[in-house]
Amino acid sequence: MPQKTKDTPMMQQYLKIKQDYPDAFLFYRIGDFYEMFYDDAIKGSQILELTLTARNKNAADPIPMCGVPHHAADSYIEILVDKGYKVAICEQLEDPQTAKGMVKRGIIKLVTPGTSLDDKPNQSTENNYLGAIFPQAQTWGFAYTDLSTGEFWATNFSDFKSVENELLNLRSKEVVVPAKLPKKQVKRLQKLGLMVSPETPQQDYAEVSFVTQKLTAASQIQAVRNLIAYLMETQKRSLAHLQVAQAYSVHQYLQMDHNVQSNLELFSSLRTGKRSGTLTWLLDQTKTAMGSRLLKQWIQRPLLQVKKLKYRQDLVQLLLDNFFQRGSLQDYLTQVYDLERLAGRVAFGNVNARDLIQLATSLAQVPKIKATLLDLQAPVVDDLLTHLPDCQDLTTAITTTLVDDPPISVTDGNLIKTGFNQQLDQYRDAMKNGKQWLAQMQASEQQATGIKNLKIGFNRVFGYYIEVTNANKKQVPAERYQRKQTLTNAERYITPELKAIEQKILEAEEKSKVLEHQLFNHLREQIKARITDIQTVASTLAALDVLQSFCAVSEQYHYVRPQFTQQEKIAVINGRHPVVEKVLGKQKYIPNSITMDAKTSILLITGPNMSGKSTYMRQLALIVIMAQIGCFVPAEQAQLPIFDHIFTRIGAADDLIAGNSTFMVEMMEANDALQHATPHSLIIFDELGRGTATYDGMALAQAIVEYLSQKVPAKTLFSTHYHELTGLAAQWPNIKNVHVDATEEKGQLVFLHKVLPGPADKSYGIHVAQLAGLPTSLLKNAQQILTTLEQKPIHLQTKSSTPATAKSISEQTKPSQPVEKEEQLSLFGEPPTSKNRSLLQQLKDA
Ligand code: ADP
Repeated sequence: MPQKTKDTPMMQQYLKIKQDYPDAFLFYRIGDFYEMFYDDAIKGSQILELTLTARNKNAADPIPMCGVPHHAADSYIEILVDKGYKVAICEQLEDPQTAKGMVKRGIIKLVTPGTSLDDKPNQSTENNYLGAIFPQAQTWGFAYTDLSTGEFWATNFSDFKSVENELLNLRSKEVVVPAKLPKKQVKRLQKLGLMVSPETPQQDYAEVSFVTQKLTAASQIQAVRNLIAYLMETQKRSLAHLQVAQAYSVHQYLQMDHNVQSNLELFSSLRTGKRSGTLTWLLDQTKTAMGSRLLKQWIQRPLLQVKKLKYRQDLVQLLLDNFFQRGSLQDYLTQVYDLERLAGRVAFGNVNARDLIQLATSLAQVPKIKATLLDLQAPVVDDLLTHLPDCQDLTTAITTTLVDDPPISVTDGNLIKTGFNQQLDQYRDAMKNGKQWLAQMQASEQQATGIKNLKIGFNRVFGYYIEVTNANKKQVPAERYQRKQTLTNAERYITPELKAIEQKILEAEEKSKVLEHQLFNHLREQIKARITDIQTVASTLAALDVLQSFCAVSEQYHYVRPQFTQQEKIAVINGRHPVVEKVLGKQKYIPNSITMDAKTSILLITGPNMSGKSTYMRQLALIVIMAQIGCFVPAEQAQLPIFDHIFTRIGAADDLIAGNSTFMVEMMEANDALQHATPHSLIIFDELGRGTATYDGMALAQAIVEYLSQKVPAKTLFSTHYHELTGLAAQWPNIKNVHVDATEEKGQLVFLHKVLPGPADKSYGIHVAQLAGLPTSLLKNAQQILTTLEQKPIHLQTKSSTPATAKSISEQTKPSQPVEKEEQLSLFGEPPTSKNRSLLQQLKDA
């Protein structure tokens, strides 16, 4: 964008400001519009569907330009930010009417995807997390915040992949990184759809020492510092609502990486990408936006400490047992607005009077909620009670200052109650009297002139005027009336008397508006001093809201309180998949038990496609998650150990973003489980190996089951259509077969969805194909091929000896095995076993 010599002073000012924000759309305020110029205008007009015009159109080098009206700017800014752009808002910093020379302008805010405070109604239940990374020595310091609520978290990761995973889990849109972060890593972050923003210059912001007071790791402190600097740089205003950062470690929670969370459909459906059909959708009967956000955080991070879980369970039970109090609490919570974000707006200074009325209404529920909790007479509520500080002085301050239904604008008056401030009342009297004087004057002028339809009106340009229609013009007393404006059918006049009254009215109006704004700001400052209390109330009510939601769901769907055992055994009696049950209806869902004693580590699940294997496995995973967030679970009885990590390999959700094929993803996910599972982990492998050729797939599936059986003492559910694998249970005592029942009726397959002990007697692929409506001739051909194949059955190579150790396996290695396979199998971090190889060979020979 070359700066030309003939640029006007305004364009010079524009270009100078633009220099500092090369990567943002610059919204440059001129009067009632925000204008964009040059490339911003060309690109902006395309994205926002605006008309592209030009400044100095007739010159040889017209400047491309487009604009949006200032009152509608928010929605345009939102579109750009949603598309991943930054928008710099450049305001007029002085009144153009009084400014001498060029109006001073400056950037008042930079809106970015991670700092957008856009409050769309459907987004109030979502957090918008801005992340920051700070690598130091061998670790990655990581911090994140939600600018709207002021919450801060900080942790460390040992590798970059974990950082990426956390950003995905948090659904962040933007991350602040050190300027020296290698390009390769920046690219990886961008591939995840994140805006990667370089750190901004550091200053001694007072907020830093407050926010980092509980942190000890230097890398975390620096990550928080970078976040705060970035917020200051983009927001350019007070951030009094920032909270003390909490250090966390993913190891303190039940870990689920991003693939697992999406496979289990915790937050969005695999098919539609929407919330419907997910665990969040099922469990969210919260009454407040804060509760809804907290529920997601809990689902994101289930707990490991039995004590904390029992505390949540006790509260859910207490609410279940006390129908009336629960009803009252739910009613009160319904009247609680988004306190976290209201507190944020108070700090920001963009709070309006309606927000403060919402704040007062919300805080007014606190004494009622406290009384109801006390009424429960249970020690378990003590902690909630101590975390509900009294804020009644604020409620009183707001309700005595502000009218009940104030306007949105805080600068146009009509906010403050009559009787609150004497001076204001006097101005208001003057305004009211003035209006009376005008009415009287209109009547007396009508009489004096004999013009019945003479009226007094007001417009912004001329102020008050007397209007007379053309027909009566002649009766106007020319000596007193001074003509001001001519319309098609009327004339407008002023008189010295009218102008005298006008001055009084306008002065009173102007002064009262200024005074009202001052009084409002004073009230806001009073509230700002208590933001920490408001935030404490907010977090307690959010937790109470989630617990009442658990209670409501548990009652509605007849869930039971799970028990946690120290032993590694699972006993879920007549469990249900909560989401499938909700969709199908309770009558149609067939409950199934899942039992695995301490000695069983693998359940091999067979049965035809569509019989319910996947549902059965997901059922356990969801029950585990529900149990570890403190909710009750869909079963008649449930005994569970505490799990530390859930691994899954489910379905065929391709990792297309990272460019990996289905089979590669399948193997990577399998490897992740094999490498990282502990005795306390849960592994779910659904039809592992189906992403490749039958022989390969089956060989891998068997090798993986055997590896799990011998080396990975986690609890594994392994569904397979390789019926041949069921023989493994006879060799390894920690493998158990179950199958999902199906029968044939008149040549048709009937799914019973019932899980029974032992292996399935056959697979029913052709029947399922028939159900799917494939042509009859094709099905007949398939049946013939199957019969031929069944005449030369594949034999799995199994061992009859005692369970193999790595050593005994390697001792059997034959030297002639192909190297290619060795590489493939060593994906699992172990050398391939002779068993795998000879199996492959055998399969090839067959
Ligand atoms: P598979 O993994 O064996 O191919 P799914 O678990 O995907 O089968 O189940 C197929 C369908 O069967 C599900 O979409 C669901 O509607 C139904 N289903 C599964 N389990 C049950 C059950 N226990 N009760 C009733 N319907 C079930």
